[in-house]
Amino acid sequence: MDEESTVRLRPGAPAPAANALPPTGRRNVLGLGLGVALLAGGVGAGWWWSRQAPTAPPPAAPAPLVSAAPAPLPPAPPLLGMEAMVVHRSAMPSVFRWADNPLVWVLDFPSLEAQGQAMNRAAALIEKGTTPRDRVLRDEELAAAIAADSRSAADWYFGHNYRAADLRRMFEMADRQGIRLNPLELWVREQVELAHRLDRARDAAFLSIPAVGGPVDLDMRRSILRHELSHGQFFTLPLFAAHVMRVWEQGFTQAERDAIRTFLGREGYDVKQDEVMANEAMAYLLFTPDRRFFDPARDLGWSDAQADRLRALLREGAPDAP
Ligand SMILES: [Zn+2]
Repeated sequence: MDEESTVRLRPGAPAPAANALPPTGRRNVLGLGLGVALLAGGVGAGWWWSRQAPTAPPPAAPAPLVSAAPAPLPPAPPLLGMEAMVVHRSAMPSVFRWADNPLVWVLDFPSLEAQGQAMNRAAALIEKGTTPRDRVLRDEELAAAIAADSRSAADWYFGHNYRAADLRRMFEMADRQGIRLNPLELWVREQVELAHRLDRARDAAFLSIPAVGGPVDLDMRRSILRHELSHGQFFTLPLFAAHVMRVWEQGFTQAERDAIRTFLGREGYDVKQDEVMANEAMAYLLFTPDRRFFDPARDLGWSDAQADRLRALLREGAPDAP
């Protein structure tokens, strides 16, 4: 069966050209980039991949004598279909919402390095196997954890996915620990807070993808996005998540769960979190067609028939295709 046929992860509307964002989207992208550049304190156009933090904090604003009215909400990020996101190009970090599920926010970074600087600290807190769940890592601790995996900040991950609530918890924890976030993390925090202000009743999902460049080609970017969008569905569609958990607990055999844990443990995930295991099993089996990232025979020792049996079970509770 076609791996692309379920869960609204098929390419949607015809892709507009990369520079054909709606006017609000273009303004949003540029405005956000400008905001980050200001945060960076004039470090320069290449600041986002530099490992150097800004050298001097901006001067503190004088405290207002009276409380000001709340600032008006910025516009929500533009809605884009999957293929439009795939072909988007920007030298700045950009943010979109997925047209098929606007609770899914996608952060598009101009390089793997920028993505790593923005998201790796969250990965360490939320899902990495060798890092603590109860405190945020400082810069040198994060660098050591990445080095221990024989990776760099750029290739520790190729894409990220988190609940907005988990990111908010990370930022609050970092405040309590007195950890100074880098400019890209501050930009992510702005987006997470905006999502919360726009819809306090429902928790958004935050995904990230890197631009084409270095080891990332266009097919790889598409594969990363498709994989991450399926996590977005898991985080925002409770019935789908419940179905995935049920299949993980009752449809997979113990040996199959063990094979998935071994594979994901090698990839650095915290194998003690069943939800992470089930969510990744779903995303890899159904929505990672790029064999460079995932091959059931190579990575799990499974035949196609064994993988297809579990794919069929997982698809039964997937949202309808549009
Ligand atoms: Zn994943």
